[in-house]
Amino acid sequence: MTSATSSIARYYANNEKRFISELVELLKFPTISADPSHDKDCRNCAKWLARNLSGIGLKSRLLETPGKPVVFAERIMDRNRPTILVYGHYDVQPVDPIDLWKTPPFAPVIKGDNIFARGAEDNKGQFFYVIKALEALIALKLVDCNIKVILEGEEEFSSHGMSVSLPKWKQLVKADSLIVTDVNTVNSGEPTIIMGLRGIVQLTVELDGPSYDLHSGSNGGVAPNPATAMARLIATLHKDDGSIAVKGFYKDVAEPTRNERKMANSVKFDKAQYKKITGVDPVGGEKRFSPAERLGFRPTIEVNGIHSGYGGPGSKTIIPSKSIAKITSRLVEGQDPDKMLGLIIDHLKSNTPVGMKLTLSDKHVAGPAIKIDAGSTLVKKAALVLKKLTGIKPVYLWEGASVPVITKLARTSGADTLFVGFGNAKHRAHAPNEYFEKKLFKLGYLFAAEMIQSGK
Ligand SMILES: [Zn+2]
Repeated sequence: MTSATSSIARYYANNEKRFISELVELLKFPTISADPSHDKDCRNCAKWLARNLSGIGLKSRLLETPGKPVVFAERIMDRNRPTILVYGHYDVQPVDPIDLWKTPPFAPVIKGDNIFARGAEDNKGQFFYVIKALEALIALKLVDCNIKVILEGEEEFSSHGMSVSLPKWKQLVKADSLIVTDVNTVNSGEPTIIMGLRGIVQLTVELDGPSYDLHSGSNGGVAPNPATAMARLIATLHKDDGSIAVKGFYKDVAEPTRNERKMANSVKFDKAQYKKITGVDPVGGEKRFSPAERLGFRPTIEVNGIHSGYGGPGSKTIIPSKSIAKITSRLVEGQDPDKMLGLIIDHLKSNTPVGMKLTLSDKHVAGPAIKIDAGSTLVKKAALVLKKLTGIKPVYLWEGASVPVITKLARTSGADTLFVGFGNAKHRAHAPNEYFEKKLFKLGYLFAAEMIQSGK
């Protein structure tokens, strides 16, 4: 163990009690971003965080956005040294169903090693260990890079404020490395480095036929049926082998390297377990790729809902006047979201069944995919640090989900991004009785301190 490593660990031991009691204070703010009645709580929490960051030696302030304020703090030593940017979010998910909480969500309770509260893991517990690592590094004079911290208050509610403000903050967020802890490990708890997230676009498709619901006897066989037409239109989006039939959709897809495929497939995808959890076999998507490859490296078009006509008890003999489908498409590295949305729209227009009027609405580009370079020095260093701290070789995971604001932040800051967190599905983020473990808080602290200590 180097002397720096041992003094970082000693600093934790000497301050653990205070760290945890500060975390408990932070968890008391009911920062539910989706509920406007908590706007004041969000602002108070942001102020509390700014004070905490000032207290450890960063210059901090609140950045106003059209939504909740963003906490920004920095400590610039030397413009020629590398800069590390830390991202987190202080807002939390709503707490309902409240009846299922064993203790109140904003009155943190510590039982054994576990801290129960909304936000304990997602994301207050996870970004706060980074702040405490920064505190230790500054107090121990072990930091020789510039530090920036950005904490938003709307991650659980679209990240709108930060998203629209980022272009103005280009200089402010400029950095060499971006550290994101708002992620999980694989279920087994092995240390995990997230290597990619998919992008996402969305739209609503409407087919209009008759001007009102028609009698299916007097009109059946004469009037075209929007429900049938929607089924036909939706069916044109995919081929029988599960691939997407939209012309040009795969043209820009960045193929994974052989090494990336190998790394992705080295995480065991347990088909039986998947069926046990979800109730279905993992048979969606393109047949020629493994489930891990399909999640990490392949785009999708999913129908999130189709509605038309009558769905109540018994029957109703009509030809419905219209049908609606909600569609989202997950994108991978290489695909430009605006272009892909355009291709999907062209496809829908040219395949609209006769007799139907097509209307497209809610067209939205949330953001592109992000893929981390497997050879990135940040990833290599993180792998070494994780192995050193846990004794376990980390796994590499290409995630199927999307966090558009982080993709935007990574691009705007120009930083190499590292996604490492110590959350786990069992911590029940977003659900009642969310908790985080003190031992993982400590592990996160040690990891962050080691990563930041020597700069890039
Ligand atoms: Zn989160």
